Amino acid sequence: MIAQELSIVDIIRKQRDFFKTGKTKDVNFRLEQLKILKQAVSENKEAIIQALKADLNKPEFESYATEIGTLQEIDYAIKHIKTWTKPQKAPVSLQLFPASAKIYPEPLGVVLIIGPWNYPFQLSISPLVGAISAGNCAIVKPSELAPHTSHLLSKLLGKYFDPAYIAVVEGGVQTSQQLLAEKFDHIFFTGGTAVGKIVMEAAAKNLTPVTLELGGKSPCIVDSDINIEPTARRITWGKFLNAGQTCIAPDYLLVDKKIKEDFLNEIQKCLQEFYGDNPASGSDYARIINQKQFNRLVNFLKDGEIRIGGETNPSELYIAPTVLENVSSTAPVMQEEIFGPILPVIEYTDITEAIDLINSKPKPLALYLFSNNKNLQQRILQETSSGGVAINDTVMQVAVSSLPFGGVGDSGIGKYHGKSSFDTFSHYKSVLHNPFWLDLKWRYAPYKDKLSTLKRLIG
Ligand code: NAD
Repeated sequence: MIAQELSIVDIIRKQRDFFKTGKTKDVNFRLEQLKILKQAVSENKEAIIQALKADLNKPEFESYATEIGTLQEIDYAIKHIKTWTKPQKAPVSLQLFPASAKIYPEPLGVVLIIGPWNYPFQLSISPLVGAISAGNCAIVKPSELAPHTSHLLSKLLGKYFDPAYIAVVEGGVQTSQQLLAEKFDHIFFTGGTAVGKIVMEAAAKNLTPVTLELGGKSPCIVDSDINIEPTARRITWGKFLNAGQTCIAPDYLLVDKKIKEDFLNEIQKCLQEFYGDNPASGSDYARIINQKQFNRLVNFLKDGEIRIGGETNPSELYIAPTVLENVSSTAPVMQEEIFGPILPVIEYTDITEAIDLINSKPKPLALYLFSNNKNLQQRILQETSSGGVAINDTVMQVAVSSLPFGGVGDSGIGKYHGKSSFDTFSHYKSVLHNPFWLDLKWRYAPYKDKLSTLKRLIG
């Protein structure tokens, strides 16, 4: 039976029943399911590439690197799950002798995963890896704005898993809200900050814990002390990958005035090298997801002088890789997350101006600094706050399974990837075990003669 034939309430009820059987608590069962998930991805690479092509004109290379690449996350979980699931010993103070303490990770129950459209495959599967590893049942609600990938996820997961364990519910805002009205044991949401607030409000009614993987304006500082060629390459790649529709893409550049001209020339060279004279005619450059996003992005083009690019084609939802100069920090393009292939450049003469601008905005998901200067690297780490940081690179921090990934402040709540995914979908149950063979009387009434001893002990 496929999930779409069941009502949301029925799926949740079936998953609760399945969870109660205790099957998911067995580590070997989880390991088996992770292997099945790996098989589901591995056996359907071509279909995944086709769906992403249809939704975003995603180049095959990018689909491999950033969506099918989620296989590495599955392998990491398969490799480490036995260690993660082991109870951990915890120290106990001498007063409690001979008691011992342990921390037991236990699954939460039935969890909901809501995905966005920009990496529509990876951002549904990667949290699912955490949910499975930690022993939960899960409902996945992919984004309706990437319909081909959403249908494929429904078909694939429906084929490889029983909906009483893992189910996909397809649909838009209304479906999402129907799901949110139900009681879950955890909600993992990836999307925009505004919708994140709606999710958290709905979750609060059921006291459901949330992970919110949100977005924001991720700044990229370019100091004068850099190796200019790799700097330009790494920024150009991180910004224009998936046509800028990446939550951790560098949103805007803060460039030292001394090198601005040389640096922008270098960016132009990179664009030429990556995509040729006309990125629209090649196969290595994605398109904007839909007309609404296209119109929103085109409006930003008037917020500065177009230094590179600027060409658009509404019928193809194409916006050329674009660099904007002479952008005011109060322009609309500097107020909201761009989430498209438009890169505003703001110059600074003193790094303090750049730091102040960053700190005047909500805390971003990522911050990038290009500089060989160790003191500056330390200063930026000390004086700014962001979900994560990459020094002398962009985007690649997301690919390191040992680094927890998530936002801070407006860019999100909670973390995942690798062990963090397991932690997110687990409850760490603290257990104290006190044997009977010794029962010191110091804590029992009558207290009269014991107070002075207690005072000595506590200090
Ligand atoms: P979105 O918030 O519009 O939608 C995300 C999901 O929420 C979709 O499944 C959608 O159906 C659902 N949804 C939309 N409106 C809703 C509502 N009113 N009530 C309930 N559910 C609703 O986000 P998006 O446009 O798909 O993705 C873009 C945003 O996601 C950007 O801000 C980006 O930075 C962020 N993002 C963050 C990460 C991350 O890992 N932190 C990754 C990718 C994207």
